[in-house]
Amino acid sequence: LQPQFGFYGYLVVDKKVRKRPLNKREVAKTEEDIITIDPNTNSLSVHEKKFKVDLTEYVEKHDFFYDAVLNENVSNEEVYLETVEPIIPMIFERTKATCFAYGQTGSGKTFTMQPLPLKASEDIFRLMHYNYRNQGYQLFVGFFEIYGGKLFDLLNDRKKLCIREDGKQQVCIVGLQEFGVVDVNTVKELIERGNSTRSTGTTGANEESSRSHAILQLAIKKIVDGKESKPARLVGKLSFIDLAGSERGADTTDNDKQTRMEGAEINKSLLALKECIRALDSDQGHIPFRGSKLTEVLRDSFVGDSRTVMISCISPNSGSCEHTLNTLRYADRVK
Ligand code: ADP
Ligand code: MG
Repeated sequence: LQPQFGFYGYLVVDKKVRKRPLNKREVAKTEEDIITIDPNTNSLSVHEKKFKVDLTEYVEKHDFFYDAVLNENVSNEEVYLETVEPIIPMIFERTKATCFAYGQTGSGKTFTMQPLPLKASEDIFRLMHYNYRNQGYQLFVGFFEIYGGKLFDLLNDRKKLCIREDGKQQVCIVGLQEFGVVDVNTVKELIERGNSTRSTGTTGANEESSRSHAILQLAIKKIVDGKESKPARLVGKLSFIDLAGSERGADTTDNDKQTRMEGAEINKSLLALKECIRALDSDQGHIPFRGSKLTEVLRDSFVGDSRTVMISCISPNSGSCEHTLNTLRYADRVK
C-alpha cells in the first residue's frame, strides 16, 4: 500500500491506528483479543463474534487499511517517530500541523498523546540550538479545553476564551495565556498543571476527561527585526488534540440533560472534524470548519501548508467490538 500524497506532494492527512494491549481487568474476565494486525501491509482485522438464530457461533471478519497500523508492542517513542517527528522541521517553515487522538474512552488516547508534545519540544529545542541558532525563534505553549461548546484556558484558572479571526486568516484565541519556554521541563510542568485543571464531570478518572477536547498548542514564533520589544511573529504551529471519548457522541438520549447537551456537542464536533479532514484530503476548496468550535479553532491549521495526523486508538477486547468498529469506520471515512 502506497501512502496517498495530496496536492502539495506530501501526505496531507496521515491516518494511523494504535491498538493497546488487553488490560488486567479484561484478562481476568477472560475477554479475547479480537484484533489482528499485519504491519507489513498496514492492515488490521476485527474478528467479530456473532450468533445465528439457532445460537451457533460464527466470526465475521472486518478488514481495514491505514497509513500505518501500530500493534500493542509499539512504544510511545516509536509512535512519536511514526507520527509527529517528520513534521517538526516543517513548523519552522510556516506549516500548521495537528495531531489528533480519536477513540472510545479507555482506548489509549491520553496515554498516546501525553508524551508527544514533550518529545516534540525536545526536538524543537534541538533544531533551535543547532540549525537556527541566534535567529530569534521562540517556543510558546498554550493549553485549553473545549467543553460543552465553550473554550476554557487550562493554564489560567479555566478562564473562558473566545475565537476571533485576524483578517490574515489566522485564528486568534482571545485571552489565551501563552507561555514562552526554553526547556522541556517547563513544558512538562505546564502540561501537568493543565491536566489537573481539566473539567471534572462525574466519577472516575477517565470520566473526567472523556467529555471534553484538550488542545495543547506549541507555537514557533520569531522576533521581528531582532527587536525583543515587539510581539514575536507566528511562524508555525503544532496542535495536539486529545479528543473527547468518541462514544460520548452517542449520549444524546441520556436521562440527564447536561449529559445529553454534552453528547450532542461532542457528536457535532466529531462530525464536523470528519467533514473538514475529508475535504482537506480531497483537495476541496471549501473546508466546512464552521460546523463546531473544535473545527473553528483549527481553521488556520486546515488551510495553506497544513498537515494532519490522526491516531485512532482502539481497545482489543471483545467487549469493545462495537466501539472499535465505529472508530475504525470513522477513521476510514475521513479519507
Ligand atoms: P483514554 O484517554 O482513551 O480514555 P487512556 O489513555 O487513559 O485512555 O488509557 C486507558 C488505560 O490503558 C490507562 O491506564 C493507560 O495507561 C492504559 N494504556 C493505554 N494504552 C496503552 C498502551 N499502548 N500500552 C499500555 N497501556 C496502555
Ligand atoms: Mg483520556
